[in-house]
Amino acid sequence: MTSAAVSLPVPRVPGRRGRLQDNPVDGVKKVLLAAPRGYCAGVDRAVVAVEKALERFGAPVYVRKQIVHNIHVVRELESKGAIFVDEVDAVPEGAHVVFSAHGVSPAVVNAASDRGLVAIDATCPLVTKVHREAVRFARDDFEILLIGHTGHEEVEGTAGEAPDHVTIVNSPADAATVEVRDPSKVVWLSQTTLSVDETMETVRRLRERFPELQDPPSDDICYATQNRQVAIKKVAQGADLVIVVGSANSSNSVRLVEVALEHGAKAAYRVDYASEVQQEWLDGVATVGVTSGASVPEVLVQEVLDELSGAGYSDVEEVRTAEEDLLFSLPKELRQDATGRRDARALGGRSGRE
Ligand code: SF4
Repeated sequence: MTSAAVSLPVPRVPGRRGRLQDNPVDGVKKVLLAAPRGYCAGVDRAVVAVEKALERFGAPVYVRKQIVHNIHVVRELESKGAIFVDEVDAVPEGAHVVFSAHGVSPAVVNAASDRGLVAIDATCPLVTKVHREAVRFARDDFEILLIGHTGHEEVEGTAGEAPDHVTIVNSPADAATVEVRDPSKVVWLSQTTLSVDETMETVRRLRERFPELQDPPSDDICYATQNRQVAIKKVAQGADLVIVVGSANSSNSVRLVEVALEHGAKAAYRVDYASEVQQEWLDGVATVGVTSGASVPEVLVQEVLDELSGAGYSDVEEVRTAEEDLLFSLPKELRQDATGRRDARALGGRSGRE
């Protein structure tokens, strides 16, 4: 890594060691495994895009920001020759750069172009949809209340499409203080990975103040975020403890912990790795719920299940609330191989990482 490389949050890996103990509890030990969980179509496409870029153009391939918010995925791609940078000015002129699944503002696209970089845009199409909405409403001179977290890359990218028209609303509490120029021309949009319930509460409060507030043309919170929240709500009702596999900077993973606690789980924790599961979390726990964020490869979930199995939680029941079969085609620069033949994964990239 160069000094310009992205500084990755180092996951907290406590010093528990040895396997978890199989201590007695009241009741039968079991795991409720949420489904859907893990990789969404946008994450799968972005990860495959970096892998294909490495195959097609050779290492190194530069990636602006973490391609997806999962430390394991980022480390794996680094080992294959990807170099993660904070900004495009850290990329050598003329090199290939992949934009992450969270999207970029036009200013970043222009900066890459000015530098002569060959950009490959792995922005999730569902994020691009929100960008287009922002552009359209700004063109019609609407003020856009963008519900999302200040500083999150996706929010920076969306806001950057129409900086003079966007105001960020971070939480329901913000709805009480946000000011608009013309209450008759206001629309709300949102980050794709928020809590559905909290976002609806923010909208309710905004509408109390601005009755003419317009809704987005379709849901901005994406199908994957919604499906994972519905599944964990069902699991949480019957779980003493919920474990969410996902990184600290993964918005949808952090939301899953909150949603689990709001819907009946007595405790909920997020872990990057199975080794972070703490013995004391299991004290008196008969039923453990398990899920994972949209940027998490299934192998990390299986490692948690293995750990739990060693502690007596070997009975695993899947709780499925939806089927998912969405796939997105790869960025256009990667749909053909070096000989011009169409790539087998061009129209959807199940990466086989599970
Ligand atoms: S979480 Fe949703 S918006 Fe984000 S990459 Fe996945 S499908 Fe796209």
